[in-house]
Amino acid sequence: MFECIDSKIRAIVEKACSDIPLSKDEVLALIKTDEASMEADAIRQAGRYVSRKRFGRRAMLLCQTGVEAFPCSADCQFCSFGKSHFSEELWKIPEEGIHSVNRQITGKGVFSHFLLFMHNSLFETLLSSVEKAKKSLPKGTNLVLNCGDLEHSQVAELKSAGVTGFYHVMRLGEEIDTTLKKKDRIQTIEFLKQEGLDWYTCCEPVGPEHSAEEIAEQIWLSRELSCFQNAVMRRICVTSAMSGRGRISLLRSAQLVAVVALAMVGNKELSSIAVHEPDLLGLYAGANCIYAEFGVNPRDTEKETSKSRGFSIEKCRDMLKDSGFVSLMQAGGEKDILLQ
Ligand code: SF4
Repeated sequence: MFECIDSKIRAIVEKACSDIPLSKDEVLALIKTDEASMEADAIRQAGRYVSRKRFGRRAMLLCQTGVEAFPCSADCQFCSFGKSHFSEELWKIPEEGIHSVNRQITGKGVFSHFLLFMHNSLFETLLSSVEKAKKSLPKGTNLVLNCGDLEHSQVAELKSAGVTGFYHVMRLGEEIDTTLKKKDRIQTIEFLKQEGLDWYTCCEPVGPEHSAEEIAEQIWLSRELSCFQNAVMRRICVTSAMSGRGRISLLRSAQLVAVVALAMVGNKELSSIAVHEPDLLGLYAGANCIYAEFGVNPRDTEKETSKSRGFSIEKCRDMLKDSGFVSLMQAGGEKDILLQ
């Protein structure tokens, strides 16, 4: 299949395509490959191959709603909500806003509705938002939180309230570009795993300055702690805080999607591989999941991102259809919904 490429890279991709888990050094070699080389093309194709073998032509459609915006204490330099560069209006979605999103996703095959908060959003806000969202959440859709670090008891309380999973990441540049501690990020992940909840994670926010070793470390953590979903997100920085650092190409992002797909061979819990923001190259190279976005968004300065950067449900569905997917997975044992 890959006769004319470097023999070392060829051996690694053929190993993963034969369902044999890769070593960390092998994952590192894939990341180090030049994005514009034939070897990188072979990696993207192999990512597609292992992903199709695992998921067939079934995609996962997710949506995220940003619930509130205020200067966030984590002060991530890449996020529009970081307290040292926050320049938006203070904002909180009204209850009707959450129901409105739930109405828009009803019958559309959305696997999970994510509620996005600031790092230091009040725990009471998390709980009350979950209670509101549950009232109109469609059948076949899970409720997932993207929030700050939590105590074990708080994770358990949110689970009792109806949350089935969390998006949580020990980010590239954690402790350097953020004020958060790596150990706290990992501790929260361990708590939610101990509670049997779905752990959605991501190789993010990838910028040109991140070394192959750093990227490999992050991917390896998601493999070792066995994530429910893995993903890749290139850094989109809308603040001046990082404007000089640039962004990686979609070609490189797609290569990393493929590396994630190959690195996750052997992880039985994996349900899907996402690419943020939605893009066709990522969906070609092994991703089978994208997100629609509503409310506030760390990669946007509009308080209703669905009118700006955020993709709509219909746009996501069209992109998945254009990528050759035929059905959407549903949560709670519900049957797939056909993409038509
Ligand atoms: S990425 Fe999350 S934790 Fe970091 S500043 Fe933005 S909202 Fe806060």
